[in-house]
Amino acid sequence: MFKFMRKHASFRHVVQFLFAIIVMYIGVTFVLFLNQLVNNPSASLSRPAGVEAFLPISALVGLKAWLSTGKFDPVHPAGLVIFLLAIIVSLFFKRTFCSWICPIGTLSEGLARIGEKVFGRNFAVPKWLDYLLRSLKYLILFFFVIVIFLGMSGVEAAAFLQTPYNMVSDIKMLRFFQHLSIFGIAVIGLLIILSVLYENFWCRYLCPYGGLLGLFSLLSPFKVTRNQATCIQCGQCTKSCPNHILVERAERVWSPECTGCLNCVQQCPVKETLTFKAPKMPWFLSPKIVAIVLVFAWFITVLMAKLTGHWETSMAMEMYRALIPMN
Ligand code: SF4
Ligand code: SF4
Repeated sequence: MFKFMRKHASFRHVVQFLFAIIVMYIGVTFVLFLNQLVNNPSASLSRPAGVEAFLPISALVGLKAWLSTGKFDPVHPAGLVIFLLAIIVSLFFKRTFCSWICPIGTLSEGLARIGEKVFGRNFAVPKWLDYLLRSLKYLILFFFVIVIFLGMSGVEAAAFLQTPYNMVSDIKMLRFFQHLSIFGIAVIGLLIILSVLYENFWCRYLCPYGGLLGLFSLLSPFKVTRNQATCIQCGQCTKSCPNHILVERAERVWSPECTGCLNCVQQCPVKETLTFKAPKMPWFLSPKIVAIVLVFAWFITVLMAKLTGHWETSMAMEMYRALIPMN
């Protein structure tokens, strides 16, 4: 199986595929859950808690409330668990969440491959504009951090979690996509076109979640590391980097833009010249080990969260039934 993967796909693609399947399953189950809630209240299909992964703002408020009051978000606990896990993963293994797990990252990558096929390459924005656009995601991030962490007290954050708006924010999100306005279609259409033309457009310029994980990833002990003694300066690493990082010139890749995709490591023709390692450690993490660590970390965390009651919402179905007609 590993021989097959080396030939046809990377370990990262297999992990991306696995999480894409999980997200699709969650999406379908959530639609069925909502249909049942509206049309057949007596049925008993349960709500997939994993849908809360798509509520990062609610998770940020939940984090503020938890840090201030010590009370773990009872409304969207899975959202907070996933948010914390993404941060912890970034603290150790760079932004591997973005390039190995996040379904938006996977979609973005797929769109860029379509662009490559159609136009023979992905385009690049001028350097000055690239710097300017990259700061956008941090501006959006700082806006949310200021509003939530400085503008709200712990009590206010905890109270927000209990508002009807937050309680059914997952349903609002689904309905937004089910009943897209002309403006919504235009914005999503534009983002798709830009993602086809420019690799990682959303992740590189606009995603505040990625921006946050990038800042935490600066502390990651594991970084792409180049052995200058054995490097033959072929430039394959730089060429394969979706984030335009000059890997061939770095001793260690510190950039918060590095998503830990390890494309560069896989493309390097000289054995063990480019590795994903911590300083002063004689060993390194191969893509296979990163795949195993990430999958294991996610499944064990979800299992622990389920077993300790930090996964399913405390909201009763009656509450959903009462709130749905209003939304
Ligand atoms: S190709 Fe290498 S340097 Fe570029 S994002 Fe991936 S791991 Fe980081
Ligand atoms: S791909 Fe490997 S050998 Fe080539 S420049 Fe990068 S680190 Fe050096």
